[in-house]
Amino acid sequence: MTSRDDRIEGVLLATAAGDALGAPYEFQPPRGPELDVTMSGGGVWAAGEWTDDTAMAIAIAEVAGTGVDLREEAAQDAIVSRWLEWSRGAKDVGIQTGSVLRSARIGSEITAERARSASTALHQGSGRTAGNGSLMRTAPVALAYLDDEQAMVEAARSISELTHFDPDAGDACLLWCSAIRHAVLTGELNVRVGLRHLTADRRELWSARLDAAEAGRPADFPSNGWVVSALQAAWSAITITPVPEDDPATEVFRADHLWLSLDAAVRAGFDTDTVAAIAGGLLGAAYGASAIPLEWRSKLHGWPDLDSHGLVNLAGAVARRGKVTAFDGAYRGYRTGALVPHPFDDKVLLGGVGALHQLPDGVDAVVSLCRIGDDDVQQGIPHVEVRLIDREDSDENPHLDFVLLEAVRAVERLRQDGRTVLLHCVEALSRTPTVAALYGARLRGLSMDESLDAITDALPRARPNSALREALRRLILTPAQSERR
Ligand SMILES: [Mg+2]
Repeated sequence: MTSRDDRIEGVLLATAAGDALGAPYEFQPPRGPELDVTMSGGGVWAAGEWTDDTAMAIAIAEVAGTGVDLREEAAQDAIVSRWLEWSRGAKDVGIQTGSVLRSARIGSEITAERARSASTALHQGSGRTAGNGSLMRTAPVALAYLDDEQAMVEAARSISELTHFDPDAGDACLLWCSAIRHAVLTGELNVRVGLRHLTADRRELWSARLDAAEAGRPADFPSNGWVVSALQAAWSAITITPVPEDDPATEVFRADHLWLSLDAAVRAGFDTDTVAAIAGGLLGAAYGASAIPLEWRSKLHGWPDLDSHGLVNLAGAVARRGKVTAFDGAYRGYRTGALVPHPFDDKVLLGGVGALHQLPDGVDAVVSLCRIGDDDVQQGIPHVEVRLIDREDSDENPHLDFVLLEAVRAVERLRQDGRTVLLHCVEALSRTPTVAALYGARLRGLSMDESLDAITDALPRARPNSALREALRRLILTPAQSERR
């Protein structure tokens, strides 16, 4: 997996992560540092459950993922139909979106044209159609046009106008999609990259709004039900949060900027899930799925019965315009092969992918360190998926140190819950022994060599590649180093 694929996969996942993180705190005032922010659920929301923001984005992504051009009328008909279908069982529908869907539908039928007319009529009646409801769902539009910026600009505005007539909403979607697209392509955070698509007077207006966002804190934009304040609060959360420098020995990583910024976005208060979902779309595009904490990834779920695995697949389908990259499950041929207990904890079993297909007795949690097929996900037990590539090229494993530590923390959490964990990759040659060595070193306070020697005694064929060994060296302090600290 290249970093660009990782960033594509980060867009919907981090949208959902921000959404689910903010959901329990919606309508509350700004949250001070003395209060925590956790993905714990609350109100009608289960822990990790996403809300309307992600659900409406998924509807757009499903249509884009079939390969159609979102500017086409038939594509927009399909989107509004899916929104209507979702809204019937939804726990929350935004005021403006709900009003448009209700006016535009005839029975269970709706068209894009009728939605647009209802949106226009709403604007003419109230003058107020600049809610944040089109911005919160716009991220997949950026993914659909990675190769065509002008088409993306047109599609972003057009899909916004299905429910939100006000030009501020269309401008916000266009600016945010431009930033997301730029982040996926380059890894850079630049919210001004889309300003050139606005007319001169609108450009000046939005430049001043972005300056204000950068000069303020997220809580300085409390009317964040308004699309302009929502964008300002999201951008403020991203820019006010310092980007940490990688220091693996103290467990501080540049990748932490993603979760720290989402935390800051939720602390804006009021429409917390939406501000954080908006911020998440851009942060995920810049840092990638690999920067999203695994504890969050393993909790995420929501309409229409998807989880993190499903969001990753969907983002890939949108970016490839519906072309399916065959993941042929070539691993299927592997026999169970190596399967041994961890030398320092016999409730952690180390194995290859074969063990996943026939779970050993007693195993009630799985941590996968390689890509697995959709059918390989066992229902009903915790299953954490970590993408690590078994090659030396560092570009293939973005945020490698962070990801390895996250994998070990996932094992540690499952063990604290009393689970028996299968830790596996394809053949338990490189990835599994690396994570197992880090787990052992942390559990027993051992040096890297002591821990890795014990693992390779248990798994005689294990040979972590040099990139993974280097990462272990950065992550595991020698006893002398830890004493000096
Ligand atoms: Mg919401």
